[in-house]
Amino acid sequence: MVKKIKYLILGGGPSGLTFAHSLLDLGISKNELLVLEANAEAGGLCRSTIVDGAPLDIGGGHFLDVKKKEVLDFLFRFLPQEEWNSYHRVAKIILRGQEIDHPLEGNLWQFFREDQLNYLESIAQTGSVRGETMPESFIEWIRWKLGECIANDYMLPYNRKIWAMDLNLLGTYWLYKLPNVSFRETLRSCLEGKASGTLPAHGTFLYPKHYGYGEVWKRMGSALGSQLIRSSPITSIDLTTRTINKTYQAEKIITSIPWMYWLEANSSLPERIRENIKKLVNISIDVDYQKKNLPTKAHWIYEPSEKISYHRMLVRSNFCPGSRGYWTECNAARSLPTNGFRHHNEYAYPVNTLEKPKSINTILEWAKTNKIYGLGRWGKWEHMNSDIAVSEAMAMANEIVSQG
Ligand SMILES: Cc1cc2nc3c(=O)[nH]c(=O)nc-3n(C[C@H](O)[C@H](O)[C@H](O)COP(=O)(O)OP(=O)(O)OC[C@H]3O[C@@H](n4cnc5c(N)ncnc54)[C@H](O)[C@@H]3O)c2cc1C
Repeated sequence: MVKKIKYLILGGGPSGLTFAHSLLDLGISKNELLVLEANAEAGGLCRSTIVDGAPLDIGGGHFLDVKKKEVLDFLFRFLPQEEWNSYHRVAKIILRGQEIDHPLEGNLWQFFREDQLNYLESIAQTGSVRGETMPESFIEWIRWKLGECIANDYMLPYNRKIWAMDLNLLGTYWLYKLPNVSFRETLRSCLEGKASGTLPAHGTFLYPKHYGYGEVWKRMGSALGSQLIRSSPITSIDLTTRTINKTYQAEKIITSIPWMYWLEANSSLPERIRENIKKLVNISIDVDYQKKNLPTKAHWIYEPSEKISYHRMLVRSNFCPGSRGYWTECNAARSLPTNGFRHHNEYAYPVNTLEKPKSINTILEWAKTNKIYGLGRWGKWEHMNSDIAVSEAMAMANEIVSQG
């Protein structure tokens, strides 16, 4: 028998879970909403598991850095404030045999003098310092903003590793998310021998005292009770009757799953929408555990050397009390075989290609006219941290409920 549901939420990651709870907070009755999640556990990329006796975040390194009070209050409802440790971020980059603090352009003072001079000379010649217009391609932007030295030593190899694709395909419209250190701040940091400029995301961060990052989302899922159906992948979508998996007939569909699943689940999508979904690009990340303790105070370390497959190490012994070892993040296209613990994240990063904004806007506009709302990292095809996923889900719930 087909069950009628007013708000059907596809995906039980941070976005879908927050949307469901926000509906309840807005007075929507439990019977009017349902979350369908493919995995046996809620939390999506933010899930954790236990490896070698301690938590490991299977979607990669996850740290909580929240700007909005209502988001923090919401998360503390599920994992109270006293259950989190607070840390001052220590993030390093391995370069020229040294561990340098991130962001590099704010910490060149940590290099030997001759190296500092080379970097500074190269930044002084950039288009951004000379007042030239910002380019639209990512590769050109790197040289325009940071100069040949940082481009060749760090930014180009690191980005070739993480994206494992032709970097010419990437746009620059998302770069406001990267640290923005001016040349003046770089010079000042070298003169004063200390960091200068705006700190990047996670300047301070929270991490659970006794659990992995997944705990908060696991609890959020449990609190939904029978309104969350786990192990229930979306396999069929009938747009005419608005019926999902031949079982749930929805008035409004909130989708936080990758749009590719819509291609598989629905054969009657308009051709124009199918074409635009096919233009969306994602990368996959493998997370591998290593039990060796690293002699560093860093919470995480960026590894730009192309001789090494992974691009980041998450030093869990420095933020997960009582644990040992570290885990790595590696683009799955570069991963080497392993006998150890590995978690493969097929959908890890949406890629900011030059043509993405046009494609996703076309999809979202079509969707909205059909009472289908794209939400979260995959619904919007946007890099967003979990605090932003929460904030956007809250805002979207408000907006959709107010429409009746
Ligand atoms: C390497 C890495 C590091 C990160 N670091 C941080 C960090 O430090 N701090 C931070 O706040 N954020 C971080 N993030 C971002 C964070 O993971 C996301 O913001 C968050 O997971 C987005 O939530 P979401 O619900 O939109 O997507 P997801 O978490 O991807 O959830 C989508 C859900 O949909 C489900 N689903 C998929 N297909 C189907 C289907 N066919 N049927 C039913 N369900 C389906 C999935 O199983 C999943 O549960 C990081 C992400 C990555 C990849």
